[in-house]
Amino acid sequence: MQEKPGEGPALSTEDLAYWSAELGRWAADYVATLRDRPVRAQTKPGEILERLEAAPPEAGSAFETLFRDFQDIILPGITHWQHPRFFAYFAANSSPPSVLAEFLTSVLAAQCMLWQTSPAATELEMRMMAWLRQMIGLPEDFRGVIQDSASSATLAAILTARERALDWKGNQQGLAGGPVCRIYTSVEAHSSIDKACWIAGIGQNNLVKVESSGPRRGLDVVALEAAILADRKAGLLPAGIVAVLGGTSTGGCDDIAAIAGLAERYGLYLHVDAAWAGSAMICPEYRHLMAGAERADSFVFNPHKWLFTNFDCSAHFLRDPASLVRTLAIRPTYLETQGLDDIVNFSEWSIPLGRRFRALKLWFVIRSYGVSGMQGLIRQHIGWAQSLAERLGQEPDFEIVTPPVLSLFSFRYRPKGAGDLDGLNARLLEQINNEGRIYLTQTSVQGQFVIRFQVGQTDTQAADVDLAYKVITETARNLCSA
Ligand code: PLP
Repeated sequence: MQEKPGEGPALSTEDLAYWSAELGRWAADYVATLRDRPVRAQTKPGEILERLEAAPPEAGSAFETLFRDFQDIILPGITHWQHPRFFAYFAANSSPPSVLAEFLTSVLAAQCMLWQTSPAATELEMRMMAWLRQMIGLPEDFRGVIQDSASSATLAAILTARERALDWKGNQQGLAGGPVCRIYTSVEAHSSIDKACWIAGIGQNNLVKVESSGPRRGLDVVALEAAILADRKAGLLPAGIVAVLGGTSTGGCDDIAAIAGLAERYGLYLHVDAAWAGSAMICPEYRHLMAGAERADSFVFNPHKWLFTNFDCSAHFLRDPASLVRTLAIRPTYLETQGLDDIVNFSEWSIPLGRRFRALKLWFVIRSYGVSGMQGLIRQHIGWAQSLAERLGQEPDFEIVTPPVLSLFSFRYRPKGAGDLDGLNARLLEQINNEGRIYLTQTSVQGQFVIRFQVGQTDTQAADVDLAYKVITETARNLCSA
């Protein structure tokens, strides 16, 4: 430890080496013993805040102290997303090669906004996006960029749809007094589509949510066409459609080919939100779900959900990157690259200027597992979710409300004679999560409170899903007999 007068103990490069090794050992132990911890944090609101000093310290502290406080104060308030029995929301994957790449990324701490601010980052990103494109079976004319989140990719898509519809005048002139742009999506769409419409100046009232129907819970294409025609007749400007591949609530999947037909007929921009389900497209047997995506203008999926890669890593593919660049590129002199014209500057494909070096973790993960290794894990997850749905469905007091789409299904407990099923299932969920061996979350299906179950964590094993069955059925029956 170097003592600097008045500054307290600063970490030297030798300390960095020492603590990196110590934290590496701690990390391995943390991952190996995750099953011993409750999945969801069991702390009360404000409990952690109370233990944190109200004012910043005048003097520095030794790293031992910081690391001890991390374990004592912070860790109890962490929900363990990498716990093998995390079955809530969607997974947010991590894996050893991804963590190690993130470590190197932090050490390099490069800003990867322009080609020249780190040529290797740009060129690796180009190559990784070409690999991912091949892995999910999109055609060669798609090019890709890594965004921080699907929300950002969708915002970029809606801005591009808006600019295309407004003949590229919106950024320049603003939207006041201009035509009213309309965006169409399904009732199953994620809230990031609403938010993108707010931020793009389109407004919630101009996001048309079309009912979904059928076993796939896909958008009703006849109703979509009727909405577009009615808007045209009313003097509004249909600009774009966001199709859903794997909705967040219950995995609803639109008929993308039919929607692409409408987008082509009426000249609308088509974006596909496959944030979660896109990773499963690396398995050819599930690609029927994305039929028609090759006709979309853009497509997003999150390797940071289900492709063993740490947040943030959202794969955004475009059939015509020039339209995106025309929408988002801004070129002040201080960002020019002198003497080089034919280069890709990925900040012109994204909303923020600054960019992390995200391609490295993809490179490490894909080369570490190989495509077949990742396919194997995803197939296991889907198989386990499906067999759990079958087992629960055979129990007379359980109902599978939405059957599995890939690795997601929803269910409710419905014992004979029970009155308030919503209240009963809410209590069941609370008890399960308070007990801590598994973690589940809820959604609403046709106004009913239902419990979601998804499998997607990197280290989940069949025994973890078996334990989930035991926890769910036993907790439910204890609840009723109590
Ligand atoms: N779209 C869908 C279908 C999602 O499920 C989610 C998140 O769960 C998102 C978009 C938003 O993803 P992100 O957090 O990367 O913005």
